[in-house]
Amino acid sequence: MQTPETIKSRIQQFQKAVQDPKLNLIIEKLLTEAFEKAFDVQIADKPSQHKPVPISGGCVHFIFISSALENKRAFIYDLMHEMGHLFDEVPRDVDCRTTSTLKESELRAWDFADKKFALYPNELGKYEKEYFEHRKKMLGPLGQ
Ligand SMILES: [Zn+2]
Repeated sequence: MQTPETIKSRIQQFQKAVQDPKLNLIIEKLLTEAFEKAFDVQIADKPSQHKPVPISGGCVHFIFISSALENKRAFIYDLMHEMGHLFDEVPRDVDCRTTSTLKESELRAWDFADKKFALYPNELGKYEKEYFEHRKKMLGPLGQ
């Protein structure tokens, strides 16, 4: 569990990265929800990922979003996707890995992202094409 100050600083980190005040509230809502389950969510110098770490009796969850994303809104798209892994309800083994195939896990996480994206038609509707292009690029051959 993080302190409210840390969560606030993470929200500000994402808002600074996205650079669009009209999207600040969406970022705040997503991160507030993510921090209900994740131990930490931050932009970092590594590929976007959800990283569950085994501890006795469970898993501690981290989300990293790549600082190298060129499209500023992709910070939001990747966050929505990694939250799909975070909130994936499929059982995890002792290493905190899901028992699904990679393709099944990726498609479910993007399905979660699609639903989040669709919640904000006023703010994100005009970026629909861009979102689905990003989704397709990230899924790669798994989307075939
Ligand atoms: Zn994924």
